[in-house]
Amino acid sequence: MDQSTQVLVIGGGPAGSTAATLLAREGFDVTLMEKEVFPRYHIGESLLASCVPILELIGVREKVEAYGFQVKRGGYFYWGNEEWDLAFGNKFQERTFGDGFAEYDYGFQVVRENFDQLLLEHAKSQGVKVREGVEVKRLIFDGDRPRSAIWSPAGQNAQNGGTQEQEISFDFLIDASGRAGVMTTRYLHARRHHQSFKNIAAWGYWRGAKKLSVGPEGGILICSVADGWFWGIPLHDGRYSVGLINHRDTFNAKRKEGASTDQLYHEAIRECSVLTDLLAPAELVTPLRVEQDYSYTSERFVGPGYFLAGDAACFLDPLLSTGVHLATYSALLAAASLSSILRSEVDEKEAGEVYEQTYRQAYLRLLLIVASLYRRYDGQDSYFWQAQRLTLHDCSAEDLKQAFINVASGIEDLRDSQATLDFALDAASQAATKEFRTKEDLNSTPPEDNELVQARMQFFHSAMMRRDIRGLYVVTKPQLGLARQ
Ligand SMILES: Cc1cc2nc3c(=O)[nH]c(=O)nc-3n(C[C@H](O)[C@H](O)[C@H](O)COP(=O)(O)OP(=O)(O)OC[C@H]3O[C@@H](n4cnc5c(N)ncnc54)[C@H](O)[C@@H]3O)c2cc1C
Repeated sequence: MDQSTQVLVIGGGPAGSTAATLLAREGFDVTLMEKEVFPRYHIGESLLASCVPILELIGVREKVEAYGFQVKRGGYFYWGNEEWDLAFGNKFQERTFGDGFAEYDYGFQVVRENFDQLLLEHAKSQGVKVREGVEVKRLIFDGDRPRSAIWSPAGQNAQNGGTQEQEISFDFLIDASGRAGVMTTRYLHARRHHQSFKNIAAWGYWRGAKKLSVGPEGGILICSVADGWFWGIPLHDGRYSVGLINHRDTFNAKRKEGASTDQLYHEAIRECSVLTDLLAPAELVTPLRVEQDYSYTSERFVGPGYFLAGDAACFLDPLLSTGVHLATYSALLAAASLSSILRSEVDEKEAGEVYEQTYRQAYLRLLLIVASLYRRYDGQDSYFWQAQRLTLHDCSAEDLKQAFINVASGIEDLRDSQATLDFALDAASQAATKEFRTKEDLNSTPPEDNELVQARMQFFHSAMMRRDIRGLYVVTKPQLGLARQ
């Protein structure tokens, strides 16, 4: 193993392998360390249409298509008293945008162990030095700047006798270590958990489920129940992934009263007539898995010598399946920013600000849409108005649904990366601040004295400090980087 590298990437999930591949394709020396040996299990199976242009950009789209994952053309919502479909596809704007992203009207439902392995193998084929079964144990800093990593063999590699720690130095670090969040949890202490989405997820895999007869081909089913909602995701290997999201407090209260997770999961399925019907001939073939408190953001996404990408920076909520989109999108932004820094085209501070603001804007806008969906008794129009208020493009009333689709399919973020940011971040943070004042907050006078309001406002603090990023935007041609308007 080399003792130095230009760029060290921690983590071989979608964020890490995308960023590493893009940088290697630009000719940089990139080492990626992943503590597991792939394939390894991961949740996050439903991919937005915006992932496909990025797969194309890293040169892996055809391999993903050839693998045979379930094509996903959107989703179908049974939400409160309403039912509606969300079909990917842009019917009112050109199909190619920026400097050449092609637009796709489908995403995939993937088995993540296969998908992530495919991306990691592809990274190797593009020149990334991928080290699996290797855990970054700690980082060594020069002031605020991480300079080297201490690593050691993990898992099976460690059991085979190799436990000795070694050091690798680097010029830049991309922390794509997912929820572990090496930089933010261990060094920056900057992870903030959401006040609003304190949820718990319980999910399992079924065989023999019926096919959903409504909505777009291969669509995700989203179905609200009294205390939360379900996802239903058809996978290419015949399994059906069914996950229940509940508020942590109500779920844990029922657990305290003696109900098991399995009981709560099956009871909730019985509440949902669509799922009960789909699962009638099916059998749950795995034990349930549970995760909680997964909605958080880091106060900072970037700093001297480092970028936080994907879940290492923030995670929103499973509702609109935005995780892999934000992972690959932030990887694209980080790789573009870093390429320009390494070629001395843009100074590090400026490139960092482009990264921070562009990524944060995407996160905030999706957060607002998810938040508005959670007010489930709002009518359809209010979700669409929400999308409209936060989109940069003017739309006529009949195009509102399309605006919602563009935001919720991630395409709007890709467009933004190729335009200079203007008022959108301000608009998003102002709307976010309002959004997170609940009725109780607003009734307490003055709201500014209310601790909860303060906490929520704090959450958006760094997004509200608007900085001038001097007309920089992402280009992919003739090479990946930042260009100036
Ligand atoms: C309940 C639930 C449902 C979800 N459903 C969806 C969905 O339907 N669609 C969707 O798009 N997203 C979904 N997500 C989100 C999705 O799982 C994540 O957003 C996505 O996996 C993030 O990718 P990543 O590359 O940032 O991190 P990961 O995919 O988590 O990759 C991080 C990698 O870093 C490695 N690592 C960690 N620490 C170290 C270390 N010290 N040294 C070396 N390696 C290290 C880990 O082993 C891991 O492989 C869901 C999340 C939850 C909680």
